[in-house]
Amino acid sequence: MTEAPIPAAPAEAAARVQRLREDITRYDRAYYLLDAPLVPDADYDALFRELQQLEEQWPELRSADSPTQRVGGAALPEFAAVRHRVPMLSIRTETDTTPQGALAFDQRLRNRLGLDPDAPELHYQAELKFDGLALSVRYERGVLVQGATRGDGETGEDVTLNVRTIRNLPLRLQGRVPEVLEVRGEVLMKRADFLRYNEAQRAKGLPALVNPRNGAAGSIRQLDPRLAAQRPLSFYAYGWGDIEGWPDRPGSQHEMLDAFADMGLPVAAQRVHGAGAQLLVDFHARILAERDSLPFDIDGVVYKVDSLALQTELGFRNREPVWAVAHKYPAQERSTRLLAIEVQVGRTGKLTPVARLEPVFVGGVTVTNATLHNEEEARRKDVRVGDTVIVRRAGDVIPEIVGVVAERRPPGTAPFDMQSLLHGACPVCGSQIVREPEEVDWRCSGGLYCSAQRKQALLHFASRLAMDIEGLGDKLVEQLVDLGLVRSLPDVYGLRAEQLAVLPRMAAKSADNLVRAIRASLRTTLARFIYALGIRHVGEATAKELARHFGGLQALLDADVERLEQVSDIGPVVAASIHTFFAQEHNREVVQQLLAAGVHWDETAAQPVSRHLAGSSFVLTGTLPTLSREQARQRIEAAGGKVSASVSRKTRYVVVGEEAGSKLEQARQLGVELLDEAALLRLLEPPREMEEPA
Ligand code: NAD
Repeated sequence: MTEAPIPAAPAEAAARVQRLREDITRYDRAYYLLDAPLVPDADYDALFRELQQLEEQWPELRSADSPTQRVGGAALPEFAAVRHRVPMLSIRTETDTTPQGALAFDQRLRNRLGLDPDAPELHYQAELKFDGLALSVRYERGVLVQGATRGDGETGEDVTLNVRTIRNLPLRLQGRVPEVLEVRGEVLMKRADFLRYNEAQRAKGLPALVNPRNGAAGSIRQLDPRLAAQRPLSFYAYGWGDIEGWPDRPGSQHEMLDAFADMGLPVAAQRVHGAGAQLLVDFHARILAERDSLPFDIDGVVYKVDSLALQTELGFRNREPVWAVAHKYPAQERSTRLLAIEVQVGRTGKLTPVARLEPVFVGGVTVTNATLHNEEEARRKDVRVGDTVIVRRAGDVIPEIVGVVAERRPPGTAPFDMQSLLHGACPVCGSQIVREPEEVDWRCSGGLYCSAQRKQALLHFASRLAMDIEGLGDKLVEQLVDLGLVRSLPDVYGLRAEQLAVLPRMAAKSADNLVRAIRASLRTTLARFIYALGIRHVGEATAKELARHFGGLQALLDADVERLEQVSDIGPVVAASIHTFFAQEHNREVVQQLLAAGVHWDETAAQPVSRHLAGSSFVLTGTLPTLSREQARQRIEAAGGKVSASVSRKTRYVVVGEEAGSKLEQARQLGVELLDEAALLRLLEPPREMEEPA
């Protein structure tokens, strides 16, 4: 489609021209009016060029209504029309992306001006070609009064309310300002703003923006200015339209932009001016190297004759200034085929559909896959296996599929469906996949069993409020899993000091300590154990509630959804999550293996054996000789007491350890009773028969 040979005979040429005009008109409408491109820019540019060439070759085929004779889009009827006093035009594109493109432009101008080779060099300014939407902003006596889109170049849309929401655009200019100044520039979305916005949208299950350009175009043409205000837009000035009452008006392109910057208008720092074509070649190369680190997308650079007098002399041709040219860079969007959709399992069990692509060179790298984020987004974009898709890679941002070329969809495709693609099972461990109401993501329910989630599960298992294995942190978990020393949670209890001592940065003493901590964690409580399993939605408080309610593990394992819902504070979502978890055969196996490894607790202790400290408020300070602060808190709470962070008149006891701080001082001042650990332990002892076995 892009490389069709130029037909030899006028009959064929006429048919081809007809076809190209129809296609381009359709693409223009989708791109300019609906902000929803049907094909990548590179494909569009190739068709447009082919049409231009045919019209040059066969002058009788030229026609005033050809897309080559017009500028961009039309105006949406919902907006008031703005007639531009000075038309907003397009720019001729130099498609040769090598340095040759810059030299050719210089040569063309010299020929046109009749300069011979010894004549002095022309002066230029080189600027960025921002990849956004053209905007005209009118200031009268320095006050922003109107903002308008380009539209068809003659008539644009009045988007003043939205333009006022652009944060870096001043509502009032500073310094000495002209009576009237129409600033022309580009409105765009910076890459970081775009990513942040999309992340927030996805988290809410709302549509994400296709790319920053469409995001900017869609936002500025948003009918509700409150919505526009939520989109993070930026503006950069590069030109002007109507100007009145500016006596000492500058005479060159670069001085004009300097003057704009002085008035407080945003002007990009990346621009150079000077004599000769080499300046342009160098700028083109320098900006290509910087392209990925710019905060926004550009699709090339623009060269302009610097002298405004010379600009006027050179004038316009075919709705394009003769004195300027856009020199493009290789495309950041390309089309390719979607070969398959695979599903990846993340550390937390989140299932992410990933598109496998026919390799395509885009944005400077070969792209072979792209994330589809989640089922909802895959469906919204309606990507299907076999489709031709538009792939985008800009900056260092990971490649994305921005849309489907609907016209090239083969027959017999089906919309993406996670459930049927995976037959309901996690591709890594085979556990049931689940998605909760109101959530966007599917997840694997195999938490502690699924190898994709191993590190996360182990880290949680060892954490302070779970099994409390001191020393088993991030880095160590990483090593243990990567080296295959821990394949599933019960393996932790088989670790030996000799195995650990050989790990990098692990002294023999710390290995011993770790083994001791692991052994110590065998004795725990039912609540901690339940929490340690990492069941989704089961936090520390819920785990305690479950332990209290069921009293023992078996009763919990046997509970159906209705029984689970009877537990206080547990609703249908949490009940379903617990039930699904224990319904997985391998989760039960892991539980059995942990018990077999020696994990134990006192089931009666999990119940409210004695609440004899109910109503008493405790404050802990300093280090106790045997109990950790966490253990002390747990035991006080188990007996019905409360632990607070600071001493007040309501405090009943302050438990004092070594190196106690200001809390001890406060306790003394308020006359609160002080306890050491031994006194606390005596106090914790329940009345006779209910005594907790040691
Ligand atoms: P253009 O590429 O012809 O360039 C003119 C525009 O460049 C100006 O209106 C201005 O907004 C912008 N610009 C950025 N930096 C500038 C600077 N420093 N100085 C002057 N102008 C600057 O733009 P266009 O006419 O809006 O659009 C044509 C392009 O749009 C095509 O190259 C094509 O890639 C794309 N397009 C794509 C589709 C599609 O279906 N994919 C359809 C239509 C158009």
